[in-house]
Amino acid sequence: MANAALRIPDNVPGDFFVDSTCIDCDACRQIAPTVFYDIGNQSAVHHQPESDDELLAAQKALIACPTASIGSITKHDMSRALAAYPELIADDVYRCGFTSESSFGAFSYLVRHRHGNILIDSPRFTGPLVKRIAAMGGVRRMFLTHQDDVADHEKFHERFGAERVIHRDDARWRTIEIKPEGSDPIALESDLLMIPTPGHTKGHSVFLYRDEFLFTGDHLAWDPDDEALIAFRGACWYSWSEQIKSMERLLDYRFEWVLPGHGRPIQLPAARMHAELERCVAWMKTR
Ligand code: SF4
Repeated sequence: MANAALRIPDNVPGDFFVDSTCIDCDACRQIAPTVFYDIGNQSAVHHQPESDDELLAAQKALIACPTASIGSITKHDMSRALAAYPELIADDVYRCGFTSESSFGAFSYLVRHRHGNILIDSPRFTGPLVKRIAAMGGVRRMFLTHQDDVADHEKFHERFGAERVIHRDDARWRTIEIKPEGSDPIALESDLLMIPTPGHTKGHSVFLYRDEFLFTGDHLAWDPDDEALIAFRGACWYSWSEQIKSMERLLDYRFEWVLPGHGRPIQLPAARMHAELERCVAWMKTR
């Protein structure tokens, strides 16, 4: 629960506020960009919601915040916001919304796969979301991009019997069911490929669904300011040179969506995405 006494001074006056516990994960700024803004190393409210859409977006940001750093002075009926997650992105791909502090607010995704639902990375294990996912058919498998964004994987495994997959080099938990190794891509489903992408961590992988959706964890994201695909040089924990090689290998694949844990998602026509990826590789080599 956010604390009004800790309200950041940069918040404009009014109902919604961010308190000083904000960890600057960016989730609220993605979910409600007209309400929340970046003040350098945290977020604050720069515009109080006026329209119904803005109000719903602010409420969705409030419940998505991993540290409960967003609050409101008045009591709100949150039922619409709670029912909004998982929220549809496109086709059968959803964003889970409820982020976890242990994943530093990384986004996770749900695929309503014909063989059973798949979670890509782990959201916060919280009642309203778990209930909604149960109503959508539960979770058959969890594909974990890397060791940092696993959050409440154990609870989802216990609740739904989900089989977890993570590359062996990032598998810090002996109880994980499937731990592929090596650098070759692995077909986890007929339309879903696990592609090892060492760099951010040694065992980082991305997941390609139907040659259309690429779930990139912390390997690749969109920078809306520079309008470019980027990798996080300052958050490369294993090897930048390996991450460049991993990025180059992605040039062999077709996809239209980049859906990251951290950073912004993007949809582009496949040819433009390929060109942007080439530009990203060239940029990485200058860093
Ligand atoms: S979602 Fe919460 S922790 Fe993340 S930037 Fe917004 S207020 Fe800060």
